[in-house]
Amino acid sequence: MAENLNRPDSLSTGVGFWRTPEGELFCEDVALADVARRYGTPVYVYSRAAVAERVRAYEAAFGDAPHQVCYAVKAASTRGILELVASLGAGFDCVSGGEILRALEAGGDPKKIVYSGVGKGEADIAFALEAGIRCFNIESPAELDRIHDVALALGRTAHVSVRVNPNIDAHVDAHVATGLGDSKFGVKLTEVIPLYEKAAKLPNIHIEGISCHIGSLVESVAPYLQMVEVLAKFVNELQKRGITLSHIDLGGGAGVAYHPEEKALEPSVLIPALVEAVRREVHIPDIEIFVEPGRSIIAQAAVLLTTVQYLKSGLFERQFCIVDASMTELIRPAIYGSYHAIEPVRPNPKAKRQILNVVGPVCESTDFLGNDRDLAVEAGDLLAVRTAGAYGMSMASTYNSRPLPMEVMVDGGRVLPLRRPQTVLDLSAGEARLGFASPAVDPAHADRLFEEALGFSQRRRVAD
Ligand SMILES: *Cc1c(COP(=O)(O)O)cnc(C)c1O
Repeated sequence: MAENLNRPDSLSTGVGFWRTPEGELFCEDVALADVARRYGTPVYVYSRAAVAERVRAYEAAFGDAPHQVCYAVKAASTRGILELVASLGAGFDCVSGGEILRALEAGGDPKKIVYSGVGKGEADIAFALEAGIRCFNIESPAELDRIHDVALALGRTAHVSVRVNPNIDAHVDAHVATGLGDSKFGVKLTEVIPLYEKAAKLPNIHIEGISCHIGSLVESVAPYLQMVEVLAKFVNELQKRGITLSHIDLGGGAGVAYHPEEKALEPSVLIPALVEAVRREVHIPDIEIFVEPGRSIIAQAAVLLTTVQYLKSGLFERQFCIVDASMTELIRPAIYGSYHAIEPVRPNPKAKRQILNVVGPVCESTDFLGNDRDLAVEAGDLLAVRTAGAYGMSMASTYNSRPLPMEVMVDGGRVLPLRRPQTVLDLSAGEARLGFASPAVDPAHADRLFEEALGFSQRRRVAD
């Protein structure tokens, strides 16, 4: 296994995935083709070793500096993944009461949970207070008032930090920038000190720290250093005014390599630079440093497996490769134009090499996984969409009445299912029947036919 982890890979995005000399793609000790045969496609396959390696890389990069790694739950929030992250000692950055619940259900320590987000609802706040989370990252003056109201009513104390909007350009795509002055996130610079002074007077508020998150897919250390500079000024100014902070939260956002020509911002590069900058600029020795990485923990740790359904030619010589995964499993290409490498799980020597647009079955023109890909595939072949762990399953939808995809975690030679497979029967089960139409087919009979069809297709797959 350790040997497998170091095998050269067609896309060196970290540990967990490798190819045999014949070119067959494996996750740890398991052939991905076997996962597809057993669970069908589309299926997300996560490598336990790959997730663990990333969490440990963050932890190790801090050295002896006091710190807390809070994995950003929204990147991938399935219970098994959160359990794994919690078992490695990390905490969680949550953006809803639901994410806090998930973190707790997975064994997360409330004392390691921070809660960000611009629209915290009353029930979410009440739940977070009763659960005893570490810190609310406050995103507006009105939110401080609401948190205080709820804390007062419940007889609790809310531990808070102010999330600053530093008005910094992180040089990332507009869709994922959060630190520019015109973004909805964080408290604007002029309101930061007055907000702390107000918070200091509120009986059910305890001031803990200061926080910031400048966006996602940040490629270099420079914007983080600018952010530390902005936050350090506030920490030092507050110190002078008698408000001593115990932590500084520098958010998430480290980029990963989706394309062989992109470079990841490695924790071993980012974290020592942050520790050094905080020690230099913040006048509180041993202030605890929090980070909230999401993507850089989970992106490289998973592939999305999909089966080629049909090849078809369009106008102007355009060739389409229609697969059984779509924007409902992985929406990043559709909404951000994101690139994901797409590779055959096994080479197919019989297939003709051609330039293909890899598209899904969903009835939307934006439903594609990758355009202009040089591939040699035929119907029935398996493809792996790489670097699919972050903002993949957590953004999946059931549009077009497509059930959510299956997810499994590979641990050495074991394949651990992360959920019960969903079918369309699960989707319609909770819906009301109004009885307006007199049924042409008995609904229960339709359900039975559907179930039988699923069984038919599964038997054919396993017999292959
Ligand atoms: C989304 C988010 C993160 C994680 O961002 P990544 O780019 O996935 O590392 C961290 N903190 C906050 C507040 C977020 O909203």
